[in-house]
Amino acid sequence: MVEKGLVDRGEMEALERVAERFSVAITPDLVDLVTPGDPNDPIAKQFVPSKRELRILPEERVDPIGDDPHTPVKGITHRYPDRLLLKPVHVCPAYCRFCFRREKVGPGSEVLSREELAAALAYVRAHEEVWEVILSGGDPLILPPRKLAEITSALAAIEHVRILRVHTRVPVMEPGRIDAAMIEALRVPGLTTYVVLHTNHPRELGPKAREACTRIVDAGIPMLSQTVLLRGVNADAETLKELFRELVVLRVKPYYLHHGDLAVGTGHFRTSIAEGQTILRELRQSLSGIAQPTYVLDIPGGYGKVPIGPGYLGAEGEDGRRTVEDPWGRRHEYPPGNGKTGD
Ligand SMILES: *Cc1c(COP(=O)(O)O)cnc(C)c1O
Ligand code: SF4
Repeated sequence: MVEKGLVDRGEMEALERVAERFSVAITPDLVDLVTPGDPNDPIAKQFVPSKRELRILPEERVDPIGDDPHTPVKGITHRYPDRLLLKPVHVCPAYCRFCFRREKVGPGSEVLSREELAAALAYVRAHEEVWEVILSGGDPLILPPRKLAEITSALAAIEHVRILRVHTRVPVMEPGRIDAAMIEALRVPGLTTYVVLHTNHPRELGPKAREACTRIVDAGIPMLSQTVLLRGVNADAETLKELFRELVVLRVKPYYLHHGDLAVGTGHFRTSIAEGQTILRELRQSLSGIAQPTYVLDIPGGYGKVPIGPGYLGAEGEDGRRTVEDPWGRRHEYPPGNGKTGD
């Protein structure tokens, strides 16, 4: 990263300490998206390490969203009855500096062994309430297509599993991996596949990333997106509007906007929830409904994700009346009602 001018030589000592604690990597595709010499470049900010990562706040946690208490076997996180995460690999092509699993991902944590994967699949098979399997990690699309196909066809053979959801940032980080073999590995008879793209800034959607998304959607695989709200990268309505619109143009439905998790050394990226809600209010005024994601918080401790967007509905009064706020902040009355037609 020094040779590419992405980091100052003078900062190297601090950055080596960052790299001892957290994984560091960037792909050539991402480097191509960086504007050299721009200290505010939104791609560089997400992937180039900073000494601010050494500042650890008391509320930050090694396991910010509480995966550990919901890990019945290695590689599985089962928090909701109908769906679970299967994490076959803990490696990514590049490492986001705000990663919510930053204490777990990286070279060395590697892939599940053949036996561990078999045990994880046996767990899915034994739990008939599991309707959906979410491949996560790390990034599952870093697996060679043949290895991925083994997993997807094993899942397709489990009768109660109907949906395969793949959480990935590969179409942005290393779009060349999304080739015909990868698409075939994702598209398996007996399963409905959704691909959820992690993307945070419109500049990430360069020609190659766009082509990768088009290839997936053209293959009949619906795409959704998830975005992390990041100070200094995308925490303003204009940037997010541009991102969500571009995604809709690409046939990728904006799904979640995540409030920043309390991952260790990521305080410089986090906004307050109030700032997030202000942005969401602006989006509601001026952005198509089909481009609106749900703003969610993953409650620390493993209690699940909940919407934390602004509320528009006032409390019910004594007489059953309510007020409801419109997108521009004006209040209106809504009559009491009990659903009966009165006959
Ligand atoms: C985020 C998450 C899911 C998926 O949640 P949805 O609200 O269905 O997108 C499932 N399991 C775990 C453990 C998660 O962290
Ligand atoms: S792609 Fe996801 S798992 Fe990988 S470093 Fe980024 S946030 Fe973490």
